Amino acid sequence: MMYDFPPFRPPSEAGSYLIRAVRGCNWNKCAFCAMYKGMKFELRKKEDVFRDIDNIPKYFPFSRTAFIGDSNPLIHPDIAEIIRYLREKRREVERVTAYARIKTVAKMPESRLREIKEAGLTRLHMGLESGDREVLELVQKGIKPEDAVEAGRKARKYFEVTYYVMTGLGGKERSERHAVNTASVINEAKPTFVRVRNFTVIEGTPIERLIGKEITLLNAREQLEELKKLIEGIKVETFFTCDHVSNYLFTRNGPIFFGVHGRLPEEKGHMLEQIEDALKTVEILEESGEKVLTSNDMYKMGLITL
Ligand code: SF4
Repeated sequence: MMYDFPPFRPPSEAGSYLIRAVRGCNWNKCAFCAMYKGMKFELRKKEDVFRDIDNIPKYFPFSRTAFIGDSNPLIHPDIAEIIRYLREKRREVERVTAYARIKTVAKMPESRLREIKEAGLTRLHMGLESGDREVLELVQKGIKPEDAVEAGRKARKYFEVTYYVMTGLGGKERSERHAVNTASVINEAKPTFVRVRNFTVIEGTPIERLIGKEITLLNAREQLEELKKLIEGIKVETFFTCDHVSNYLFTRNGPIFFGVHGRLPEEKGHMLEQIEDALKTVEILEESGEKVLTSNDMYKMGLITL
């Protein structure tokens, strides 16, 4: 039987050994998400996962990192055993990470998180998207801001934590509260990393029916203003990065903004200056009649894939 690859992994796991403990997403209702739609959620048999781990050298170049998919492998009853097996068989691995649902971690007993840490997991990637109650409900994220605070508080005792945030998700209508309340959850949850994706409407996802009604997409200037407000509101130490093409802004001649990256709070001033510079550039270009394109424009034209 062939190796069972997880179909998605974070960009930061591009060089990692990929291990699939579960298939699909056990929630699968987020209105913006196309990742596992149409895929039945399954726990893989641990013996099959072990066989994949045995076969890692046949499928991957040497790596010191490993990633476990699909969307929420922590609910696998054998996850600690799977991670222990991986650690035993691949001694070179220094970092083991997994996607996890905030709701799952918020509800999980700390003894279980400790067991998973002791097995060898080092980092969790969790989708916050927004810290605003109304936005979370609108997009059917299935979590409340207090779940995100609780999950961060618990998870940080045992792991490094990435929270993914989606700028623009509340549309123009909720831009201010989305930024302010997301920063507020980050301040309480204290994730090690904040990674930003700009909301891009994927064809066929349930959120399409809300666009132009409940949600008005942000233009380039509004996207930058929201990003600025988010960064201004973050008061805790974290590494903040827009490490995804959806954050870029473009003209017909190519990208003019690549997002901002840096350690907060030390590099906050510099990051805000970069956003101010981008705002000035957008203003000049638009005054000259040039449209600045967001990820939504580029996706619709087939010029980026997500
Ligand atoms: S965003 Fe994550 S939790 Fe939501 S449906 Fe997609 S994979 Fe599942």
